[in-house]
Amino acid sequence: MKEVSHLQLVTKRTKIQAIGEARCPQCREGKMFLYPFWRVDKFSEMHEKCPVCGLKFEVEPGFWYGAMFVSYANTIALLVVLGVTIFYLFNDPPVMYYIVPVTILSILTVPFNFRISRSVFLHLFGFVKYKPSIRT
Ligand SMILES: [Zn+2]
Repeated sequence: MKEVSHLQLVTKRTKIQAIGEARCPQCREGKMFLYPFWRVDKFSEMHEKCPVCGLKFEVEPGFWYGAMFVSYANTIALLVVLGVTIFYLFNDPPVMYYIVPVTILSILTVPFNFRISRSVFLHLFGFVKYKPSIRT
């Protein structure tokens, strides 16, 4: 019987999957964050380095400031989608019918938005090359 190496057993993630699961851009296996996003007390705690390949996630000092722009874009997209939905569903209600749901949904999505913004920013602007077989 032919032996199968460990590397062949590992499912290769696409870039989109790696971004969505907040995995390391270099190996697409190591998780960026220590806890799942529903742990609202610790959702922002990250590994300093990838636990699989050792890539330092903050590729340069202040790198995560750029993720704020991704987060801002996500929040605006949410605001527009929810605002248009409310406008058509409730036939242009008073302003408070927009402000309250948008504010509540923005606050509820903070953990998810924070993490996906950092993941998107690292994958798209970290300029880290994907190396499928890298291990420490
Ligand atoms: Zn890695």
